[in-house]
Amino acid sequence: MNRIIVHVDMDAFFAAIEIRDNPELRGKPVIIGGDPNSPRGVVSTCSYEARKFGVHSAQPIAQAKRLCPHGIFLRGNMEKYAAVSRELMQIFDEFTPLVEPLSIDEAFLDMTGCEHFYKGLFDMGSQIKGRIKERLDLTASVGIAHNKFLAKLASDKEKPDGLTIVDDPITFLDTIPLRKMWGVGPSTYKKLESMGITDVPTLRNTPVDTLVRALGKQGFQLHKLSLGIDNRQVEPPHEAKSIGNEETFPEDISGSQVHKELLYLTDKAARRLRRQNLKCRTVTVKMRLPDFTTFEKSSTLPEPTADTDIIFQEVKKLAKPYKGPFRLLGVSLSNLAAETSLSLFEEEQNKSKLWEVIDSLKDKGLDIKKAAILEDDPEAGK
Ligand SMILES: [Mg+2]
Repeated sequence: MNRIIVHVDMDAFFAAIEIRDNPELRGKPVIIGGDPNSPRGVVSTCSYEARKFGVHSAQPIAQAKRLCPHGIFLRGNMEKYAAVSRELMQIFDEFTPLVEPLSIDEAFLDMTGCEHFYKGLFDMGSQIKGRIKERLDLTASVGIAHNKFLAKLASDKEKPDGLTIVDDPITFLDTIPLRKMWGVGPSTYKKLESMGITDVPTLRNTPVDTLVRALGKQGFQLHKLSLGIDNRQVEPPHEAKSIGNEETFPEDISGSQVHKELLYLTDKAARRLRRQNLKCRTVTVKMRLPDFTTFEKSSTLPEPTADTDIIFQEVKKLAKPYKGPFRLLGVSLSNLAAETSLSLFEEEQNKSKLWEVIDSLKDKGLDIKKAAILEDDPEAGK
């Protein structure tokens, strides 16, 4: 293998943590998710015992309750899961500096060049799994291949507690259902099916021109994937040079709209920062007037931060001298650094935990009034 890419995915992460911390739950169908009495609640994660009853993530909780009435329904504790996730990412960092987190419980590790530390790829995978088990008392499934696409499919192959090494991409891919191929959602699947393509070998044997005619650029992509080709690199988050957003308005905005828009853009950028475990030192505000005159103003903070409050104070200061109306506003954060381990100051620790909780609730689509946090801004969250 010219590259060695490892994909690690924790097994039933939230449910596994709850079971670890409360052994009475072991062997029982544990379902983590929203309020079981609310029509809008969905399953976030469930134990493998619950899966036997047809319960799965993203399913309405009410349906899960019908399928598995004796299940143990828990609301979950995002703060706890985020703390375990941080420990998990630290374990990955011990194996290689090239780690790309994909979500709270999975990551790609580029282990190219690390082979000689291990007896072989099986030993490499076992050591990663072993360290996770030893430190966190949780199981992970690991896939090892020469690219990201195959490694991710491989980690899914023997779940839970699996370890799959892809030596021969073609033979391996032929065991994968077409629906599991990257980019094959329900509508693409339908199109492929209508062309008589329902498995990977048939996809591979279909002329690339035919696929491109039917699916455009995606046809070309699928052709490459069917051959096991994927050249994407593992990209550690700190390689991002800046994180930011800008917005052009359908109508020029002014007054309190500007304040609201800047807060929205700041929060969006800060959330992306926190999701990637980064902090920024430089804050830049971009403002474009109706005649296209554009100003960009930056300032550098004394300490790196990912705190929406602190960043927004700076944004307001930078924007203050400029009077609208504006046709475009942007906020970008740069001079990025990986978040250092926990702060010595308890106050800051608590605050960063608070942001984690708020972010996770927002990610779940729950409505959080920013005003509760950004007290100086009664407009926020409206
Ligand atoms: Mg997982």
